[in-house]
Amino acid sequence: MNHFDYRDGELWCEGVALSAIAKAVGTPVYVYSSATLERHFAVFRGAFEGLGLGEPLIAYAVKANSNVSVLRTLGLAGAGADTVSEGEIRRALAAGIPASRIVFSGVGKTAKELAFAIEAGVSEINIESEPELDLLSQIAAAKGARPAIAIRVNPDVSAGGHAKISTGKSENKFGVSFAEAERLYAKASQNPALRPLGIACHIGSQITDLTPMREAFTKMRGLVEHLRGQGLVVERLDLGGGLGVPYFNQPSPPEPKAFAQMVAEVVRGLDVQLAFEPGRLIAANAGVLVSEVIHVHQRPEGRKFLVLDAGMNDLIRPAMYDAYHDIRPLKAPAADAPLSAYDVVGPVCETGDTFTRDRLLPPMAAGDLVAFLSAGAYGAAMSSQYNSRPLIPEVLVKGDAFAVIRPRPSMEDMLAAEPLAAWL
Ligand SMILES: *Cc1c(COP(=O)(O)O)cnc(C)c1O
Repeated sequence: MNHFDYRDGELWCEGVALSAIAKAVGTPVYVYSSATLERHFAVFRGAFEGLGLGEPLIAYAVKANSNVSVLRTLGLAGAGADTVSEGEIRRALAAGIPASRIVFSGVGKTAKELAFAIEAGVSEINIESEPELDLLSQIAAAKGARPAIAIRVNPDVSAGGHAKISTGKSENKFGVSFAEAERLYAKASQNPALRPLGIACHIGSQITDLTPMREAFTKMRGLVEHLRGQGLVVERLDLGGGLGVPYFNQPSPPEPKAFAQMVAEVVRGLDVQLAFEPGRLIAANAGVLVSEVIHVHQRPEGRKFLVLDAGMNDLIRPAMYDAYHDIRPLKAPAADAPLSAYDVVGPVCETGDTFTRDRLLPPMAAGDLVAFLSAGAYGAAMSSQYNSRPLIPEVLVKGDAFAVIRPRPSMEDMLAAEPLAAWL
């Protein structure tokens, strides 16, 4: 459920008409709903209540939507943060999320980033390879520190979904095999500069079937038992993120309740602290991208293009993952409005800048406003200035108030970021 609804013939976010935000801030603009973020977090957390699993650490995956106000909204609701760079750790800390709820993941953490994470005192550093384990141990020893680590395992299961968001097959770059995890965990346990806390996995994103997750988590349980059987201490089991969201027209993912129930069945009696890293589930349906129609270009030979002021640099998911976004006019169309097929495109000079082809929409005209739904995750976070288009603003709504939480940079700001070389 989200808080974007038609009311009095217009699309609203909570208590604010999206057209009012477009008027005040301009387009294109991302708009997020506080109530939806809070609700998604509460539903995920609530799913684990009463299952005898204790209080899991729910570390929101910052990369899905890393705006500091979004992080603060979730942090105040009790979320931790799953981070993949020093920048993301700094964002989480700036948002007031305590280091004790921060997880540091990622395949290529630099020495500088690892040192920063140790100093910040993050709760878990996920180790993805042996060289990374060795690097962290050198840095920790030099500091006289003993950071808590988890070994990230690649459970070698196929989670379905798009190949570009699969992470849990052995051919993917993430994590180590079960055999390697066992060896590295034992190695880390011998090392006075490291505190092995547990094991972690994350098998992919937008997963709409519990079967591969159950398979991976069952293997993870086996590894916990195996390590403990060797006298090693395993306190935490981090099962990652990846639970899909109901994108319009796509296969329906399982409810968080069903996911939690499956986890409870898999880990029953294990006595371990659970951690999760949901990103998309929390943020995707909590945001929309509002854009204005620049032209309707009807080719005499047939195709009809809806040319928007938002481009692939603002929302890259369709170009990168063939993602589907529902597109709604901000003004509710008449119930009997005739639908016709549009190719919805942006202004960027790339054929890939096509959001969708043959989308059935009511009659559209220049100046009309549309919203891409489910754009709160991997939207603004993946945007760029390609074609020298300034990053677009982000707005957060709460009740009938809204705030610009990332202003649109001016053309001057954009140019000022590039000093000329001294010899030019
Ligand atoms: C991207 C990522 C997540 C979040 O994935 P979602 O599909 O957005 O839930 C969680 N953990 C790790 C390690 C990731 O890389």
